[in-house]
Amino acid sequence: MADHYEVLGVARDASTDEIKKAYRRLARELHPDVNPGADASERFKLVTHAYDVLSNPDERRRYDMGGDQGFGGAGAGFGGFGDIFETFFGAAGGSRGGRPRSRRERGQDALVRVTLQLGDVVFGTHRDLEVDTAVLCETCHGSCCQAGTQPVTCDICQGTGHVQRQMRSLLGNVVTNQPCGSCQGYGTTIPYPCGTCQGQGRVRSRRTVSIDIPAGVETGLRLQLPGSGEVGPAGGPNGDLYIEVTVAPHEIFSRDGDDILATLEVSMPDAILGTMTTIDSLDGPVELEVRAGVQAGDVLTIKGRGITPLRGTTRGDLRVGVHVVTPTRLDAKERALIEDFAKKSKPPTPHLAEFQQGLFAKLRDRFRA
Ligand code: ZN
Repeated sequence: MADHYEVLGVARDASTDEIKKAYRRLARELHPDVNPGADASERFKLVTHAYDVLSNPDERRRYDMGGDQGFGGAGAGFGGFGDIFETFFGAAGGSRGGRPRSRRERGQDALVRVTLQLGDVVFGTHRDLEVDTAVLCETCHGSCCQAGTQPVTCDICQGTGHVQRQMRSLLGNVVTNQPCGSCQGYGTTIPYPCGTCQGQGRVRSRRTVSIDIPAGVETGLRLQLPGSGEVGPAGGPNGDLYIEVTVAPHEIFSRDGDDILATLEVSMPDAILGTMTTIDSLDGPVELEVRAGVQAGDVLTIKGRGITPLRGTTRGDLRVGVHVVTPTRLDAKERALIEDFAKKSKPPTPHLAEFQQGLFAKLRDRFRA
């Protein structure tokens, strides 16, 4: 008498799940319908018996204490054919009896993609989105039937939704339940389907969905609109609608958390003498002072002109890194003036100083990325 654990190839402390898995694997390989050899059928019997014992907590305990009578004893091992076939066919076997399935099901979720400009993200925005979806059939209101008619009990399965199929095996005739092919498992058929929806209870439609997109969203974020997806078959509940956001790159501004970054190009004279300027921020013109002697790489911060965070109300900042533009073409007169300036101010000759991985370098790196 082979040991049940060895027959199934599992450890003595295997869980019920492991035992079930091992049995299913072996059954697929050895079932007489699959493997007609006499050897396989003998092994299948052993495997099935081992499974019968080990899958039943009481019998397993008795077996572990040496109480099993062995294969064939009292035929107890084959008491549960239903269980065996349930295990063997599993979910793939479809209907295992019980109630017929409902026509009415939840609709599928839908995903719509929307592309926003950075400006939309600063304050949030509103969009009307066209969505291809399914809506309730106005003619039958989801009943799927022509007016004055209704579904009738399927005469193939007598309304149960499934039919029994006999299978011959070496273990005798076994009966499996399968969804009724005549009614697709619904238990009823529709003799006079609604002409508008062909008996589906819903029709394809294009619908406008109005949505408020909050400030501070970023690329990849999905907003969920519960119940705004398609209506289900036969008027089942709506699925959800998801809006996936993409924020288009801006030619001037880039984003760093709730802050907005840009570069301010300043002429050499303005950098030396200082100036007032007006810059076009994402929410309109802003006055900005470039103080005399500003250095390339200095960062000017304009408070509260960044992005309103998704959760919160305090806007980030607009930060501009100064880039001093050195003139490259000088006429004779300008050149003379600069040379004159150099003589007078005696600026230091070029010399090495400590390397600075300043903020401005980071700003530039972002633009290159
Ligand atoms: Zn209809």
